[in-house]
Amino acid sequence: MSKATLVKTRLSIKSNNAGSVKTDLSTTMKEFCVIGNPIEHSISPNMHNAAYKAFGIKAVYEKMLLSDEKLLRESFFEANLDGANITVPYKETAFNICDEIKGIATQIEAVNTIVKRDNKLIGFNTDAAGFFKAIKEFGKIRNALILGAGGAAKAIAFILKQNGIEPTILNRSIERLVFFEQKGFASISWDGFVPKKYDIVINTTSAGLKDDTLPAPVNILNQALRNARFGFDVIYNKKTPFLKLCAEFGLKYKDGLDMLLYQAVFAFNIFFDKTYDETKIAQAMKKSLFNQ
Ligand code: NDP
Repeated sequence: MSKATLVKTRLSIKSNNAGSVKTDLSTTMKEFCVIGNPIEHSISPNMHNAAYKAFGIKAVYEKMLLSDEKLLRESFFEANLDGANITVPYKETAFNICDEIKGIATQIEAVNTIVKRDNKLIGFNTDAAGFFKAIKEFGKIRNALILGAGGAAKAIAFILKQNGIEPTILNRSIERLVFFEQKGFASISWDGFVPKKYDIVINTTSAGLKDDTLPAPVNILNQALRNARFGFDVIYNKKTPFLKLCAEFGLKYKDGLDMLLYQAVFAFNIFFDKTYDETKIAQAMKKSLFNQ
């Protein structure tokens, strides 16, 4: 493997683990990573390392920049990882390189959490459960309009369906809707939008992340939000134009920070094959988000 394709950034960990990281790694310290491209912006190491510290776990969590999807599996083994989170754009690749897929990831066909067990890679998707935990505070929801048809939309569509909430997927292009049609979801492109009452409207597109664009034409959004009760944006730490529009319609709304937090909480418990207290993990991780 060409070294130029893989940059591993070892973080300086000041924790309960006395001594240098190198010394600890040579003994019993477990190693985890978030792998993606780009990866510099990721706050996953902050969250996971804070939880290791809170529970007194000997482990380190780093970032890995991977430039070629074909190297995902060998990079995991070469870095001697015990587990990893996989982010954009490798979640579908991760699904394909695992030896075994567990839970809802088998339906979503995308993996954001890999753990090594008996030298085999086991894949999970915790984005779905993370999203569902994040919207729990909204209460009873019967149906949903999902804007976008990428990886995040797949995770959200399946977890909603699993919980008896009927999702409709609305996307700019028709190509990505094929997957949803094949899985039996109601799916439409902008041209085919027919106004209907949706309890929640969820933005899963990256519109508004680095620009000020809305995820769909404003007339469509107006019609959908007018009758909705809740709005959710997977983008976090930003009041996107979509969330601003939700506010204008008087909706209760949330950004994607709790989804990010809880996918990390659930991944943490998968990594350690134990049931640590979720509230305590969340508390430790949350604290790290506000201490940056
Ligand atoms: P994908 O690239 O798989 O999909 C992107 C989707 O967004 C496509 O359906 C695309 O439509 C649509 N899209 C992109 N730009 C626009 C635009 N300007 N207007 C309308 N539609 C647009 O991305 P993911 O699903 O993996 O991720 C999407 C976002 O979700 C990212 O910002 C990511 O960071 C975030 N995310 C957040 C998580 C959290 O924990 N909070 C977890 C997972 C993801 P088309 O098919 O027409 O191109």
